[in-house]
Formats: sequence, C-alpha cells, structure tokens
Amino acid sequence: MVSRYKCPCCDYYTYPVPTKEAVGFICPVCFWENEPSDCNHGLTILEGRSNYKKYEIWCL
Ligand SMILES: [Zn+2]
Repeated sequence: MVSRYKCPCCDYYTYPVPTKEAVGFICPVCFWENEPSDCNHGLTILEGRSNYKKYEIWCL
C-alpha cells in the first residue's frame, strides 16, 4: 500500500487511507495513534509532536 495521506500530527504522508478510516493506525514517524475519539492512551497531539521531534533523526 502506498502512504499518501498526511498524519494529523507530524504532516508526513504515513497514512495509507484517510485518517478517519485509519482507526488505530500508529504513525511510524511520530507514534501518533489515530483515534477519532479524544482518547489516545493519554498521548496528546502535542506530545506526539514532541515525539516526532525526539525521533526525527530516524525519519526517512
Ligand atoms: Zn505522524
């Protein structure tokens, strides 16, 4: 599958399907788990962004 939809967290094209369909998909770049509800295992989108910064070095 080709990833061509933007992660809502890091804006990398890591999603193979639109985010609203990719329930439970975990972005390999920032570890944001796509969850349409507010619950994301306590991980906020801002924390996801900080993960992204932290692990930026192995992003592609
Ligand atoms: Zn991401």
